[in-house]
Amino acid sequence: MALTPDEIAQIRDKLFEQRRQGHKKLDFLDDSIMQNQDPAARDGVYYSQHPAEMGTDANEREKFYRIATSEHRFLYRIAEALRRIEAGSYGVCQSCEAEIPFARLMIVPTARTCVDCQEEQERVRFQGW
Ligand SMILES: [Zn+2]
Repeated sequence: MALTPDEIAQIRDKLFEQRRQGHKKLDFLDDSIMQNQDPAARDGVYYSQHPAEMGTDANEREKFYRIATSEHRFLYRIAEALRRIEAGSYGVCQSCEAEIPFARLMIVPTARTCVDCQEEQERVRFQGW
């Protein structure tokens, strides 16, 4: 059964909400990265010259970048999902073209495949390792 306009509206709301959260998280990460990145630039004072502390800064920074990267990827998937809604191709598995159940889409609104195809993809990926 295809998605009703009401179901689409609910999913769109969810995507908007997730996008808002994602941007908020990225703003926070940006601030954190900026603050961490160049201590000298802030207040013109080097306060992190101890090697151990510098190591911590580098680790922290890397962690922030990693989270930011995955957050960007997530926002991209949200944008893609919204585009698919506009195009009317949303909710169809891109692998087997089955309709993805509304219940799954409400949990994973960015889903591009049905559960079966996703499990298949994950199985292949794990075997690749
Ligand atoms: Zn499928």
